[in-house]
Amino acid sequence: MELRELLVTAAARAADYRERAAESRVFPDTSPESVRDALGALPEDPSPAADVVDELVKAAEPALVASTGPRYFGFVTGGSLDAATAADILASGWDQNGFNAVTSPAAAAVEDVAASWLKELLGLPPHASSGFVTGGQAANTVCLAAARHHVLARAGWDVERFGLQGAPPVRVVVSEDRHATIDRALRLLGLGTAATLPVPTDDQGRADTAALATLLRDAEGPKIVCLQAGDVNTGAFDDFPAAIEAAHAHGAWVHVDGAVGLWAAASPALRHLTAGVAAADSWSTDGHKWLNVPYDSGYAFCAHPEAHAAATALTAAYLTGQDGFRAPSAFALESSRRARGFATWAALRELGRSGLADLVDRCCALAGRFAGQLRRNGVTIGNDVVLNQVLAAFGDDERTRHVLAAVQRSGECWMGGTTFHGREYMRISVSSWRTTEADIDRAAGAVLTAFRG
Ligand SMILES: *Cc1c(COP(=O)(O)O)cnc(C)c1O
Repeated sequence: MELRELLVTAAARAADYRERAAESRVFPDTSPESVRDALGALPEDPSPAADVVDELVKAAEPALVASTGPRYFGFVTGGSLDAATAADILASGWDQNGFNAVTSPAAAAVEDVAASWLKELLGLPPHASSGFVTGGQAANTVCLAAARHHVLARAGWDVERFGLQGAPPVRVVVSEDRHATIDRALRLLGLGTAATLPVPTDDQGRADTAALATLLRDAEGPKIVCLQAGDVNTGAFDDFPAAIEAAHAHGAWVHVDGAVGLWAAASPALRHLTAGVAAADSWSTDGHKWLNVPYDSGYAFCAHPEAHAAATALTAAYLTGQDGFRAPSAFALESSRRARGFATWAALRELGRSGLADLVDRCCALAGRFAGQLRRNGVTIGNDVVLNQVLAAFGDDERTRHVLAAVQRSGECWMGGTTFHGREYMRISVSSWRTTEADIDRAAGAVLTAFRG
């Protein structure tokens, strides 16, 4: 088979799958073990490319999760937009190395343009530096590496040269409800989770600003504060104006984990939730969640480009790039890397400013609709539904677990479980452009059937 036919066939298979995903089981009833068996043993000899693709589709498709369909509400998972998906297929076909403008002028330029659009949409300072990374985890890690550089440089310590051996101890003030990726970033950066000073939170997971100020006042030495735009369970936002003012008064760097909620800034109706966030020092968010870009896609923004580059650039020479054009890899963790900008640019170009606002507003309205239908039928909603996240409890933890398992088995929709402030919940995240009111009604129906059953 010719290459052309092979690629067209592969794209057609993907399109078939995406079309079917609106009606197929949301979670497969095929086990990973049976896929492993279908994939077979290491082959001795080469095979025609067309046979390979055929075999892969046959083995993998029965065990795919229809997260690209309209009734997947697990974790925080967007269904990739059409243009972004097509652009990502092109990124594979073009096979560009997004290291810098020498390895690919197009890849370097598209990240530049997409980054400036993102900053405008999210209300971030235009001078902020940006790194296109693999996701929220990598974005938090890059931002906290920049923070580590900045607070230690101000204490007279060159962490890039000497590491943390002998460095003044850094304290990291974090919300008790921070995302687990903050802790992993601190582990990877050698700061360690014992460096954290946890701030108590209210019933929505918002950091107590008075307690935060007290912790900052009492902590010695260089300090970093981690705030949240959109708690992964409740969707709640920290009080940015008060928290950032307190943090800066004590010389702390403020990082905002906005993997889920920074997108509220793109909606005129919801922007108030992020009020004051632009005064922070760094921000992370995800493309593959609410922007509905294919995996893997995340963004690290930093108000101090020199701190960002000091932490992540290979050498100072890479900063401006070999030919004077900004090197995207100087602001990310990878050296050779996927040309991630194409898919992000395509998502933003397809949606436009109003389309993105509409996506965010619609998901939030649909989350409210879901919560309302459950609440009216005796289900406990454990959070104020201010964003796209809903926590539902069906009695005690055991009953909630039982209802959750029944819904997951039904194939009608899929959501995961979580524990928030000591209680187990079904966590519903409405993050896909494909979800409609009819999908919400059908999913709520499936949940209520499991609840009554
Ligand atoms: C999902 C999430 C992350 C991690 O993002 P990944 O893209 O999964 O690495 C970090 N913080 C919050 C609040 C999240 O919801």
